[in-house]
Amino acid sequence: MTTTPATTTTETTTTTAAPVTISQAQKRQTLQARVAWGDHVVTVGGDAPVRVQSMTNTDTADAVATAIQVKELAQAGSELVRITVNNDESAKAVPYIREQLDRMGIMTPLVGDFHYNGHRLLADHPDCAQALSKYRINPGNVGRGEKGDKQFAQMIEMALRWDKPVRIGVNWGSLDQDLLASMMDANSLRATPWDVKQVMVEALISSALASAETAQRLGMSPAQILLSCKVSGVQELITVYQSLATRCNYALHLGLTEAGMGTKGTVASATALAVLLQQGIGDTIRVSLTPEPGEARTQEVVVAMEILQSLGLRAFVPSVTACPGCGRTTSSVFQELTKEIDDYMRDAMVDWRDQYPGVESMKVAVMGCIVNGPGESKHADIGISLPGTGEAPSAPVYIDGEKAMTLRGDGIGAQFKAVVESYVQKRYGASQNTAA
Ligand code: SF4
Repeated sequence: MTTTPATTTTETTTTTAAPVTISQAQKRQTLQARVAWGDHVVTVGGDAPVRVQSMTNTDTADAVATAIQVKELAQAGSELVRITVNNDESAKAVPYIREQLDRMGIMTPLVGDFHYNGHRLLADHPDCAQALSKYRINPGNVGRGEKGDKQFAQMIEMALRWDKPVRIGVNWGSLDQDLLASMMDANSLRATPWDVKQVMVEALISSALASAETAQRLGMSPAQILLSCKVSGVQELITVYQSLATRCNYALHLGLTEAGMGTKGTVASATALAVLLQQGIGDTIRVSLTPEPGEARTQEVVVAMEILQSLGLRAFVPSVTACPGCGRTTSSVFQELTKEIDDYMRDAMVDWRDQYPGVESMKVAVMGCIVNGPGESKHADIGISLPGTGEAPSAPVYIDGEKAMTLRGDGIGAQFKAVVESYVQKRYGASQNTAA
């Protein structure tokens, strides 16, 4: 047997320069749903920005704990918050949760997450049905056969009665087993059967689309139907949503289910969602992180916002550009200041959002030394170049591309925060906006 030796080349090729275009994600056109509580309407799909949503992990029956967590998630930036409604106690608690939120001035719509018994809970607890702004229905968990069809229809009937949109949310882990079995049988009769995974992907999509068609037949407006098909693998999620997007124009809820914890969950979610969002797929996102012990639930909201902001799709908080540090930053001052400024601006956004419109697009640079510090600081709205090892203990500050001052001494962090605050007031304050 002869083998062909692998060929390698040492030649280089270059092409002449041409102007480049920085990519911009163009959201695909979908129908627009209205998720409302009172006068507060969150549009999803169509020309609406990609929405951030999250889910509580409190016992919904504990109305106080749940209302507090919804408030935290909303203040962190979640535009919709989902709560599980799994039994009579939690259904009874929903109107109280809503009432407490209203009293705190939190108008964020609540989405009810139903499995197995949603048809009964919505029928038995009209105050719950009314207090929720959207219902999530999992076609894999509404029951099997005719009974399942009837229970699905009952949930749609409730959505129509209370004028609520629905999300038909299919999940890899709770796929309609009857549908999967019939598709497997049909597959075995194909001349060239599909791979099992291909059949499962098709079953997920078919389940969502067939349920949406049924909901429409029962009277739902297509604009009031959102779809999701969640899986836990990055490549599978991309494949599923790319296919789904070519087959319907319902607004799509995007998320990697059971993403996992910490770095793994964050990176996997960001990877999958970024690919799809860059292709214009996705009208609302949730990052399903497992919180690390002691970690705030709001971390999933922070990650979701960072994904959208990194892609240039939305701006939520001023961004901090910081270098990674290296052998030129042998003290921890640089890391501490970067964290301090980032935390400070995130906390301040709760008030800044209303007081200083536009501040969310501000760019702040915190750099470790003179090598890239002044250059990167000049590209930001406001930047500081800290002294690296062996450099004079002074930190030049750049405002709108010009060197504005030099900070010295032990309190550089506090001084810089004061400079940032003053810049925000001058540039984004009411008088500035009126003058403009
Ligand atoms: S800016 Fe300075 S400290 Fe930061 S990574 Fe570059 S060389 Fe290192």
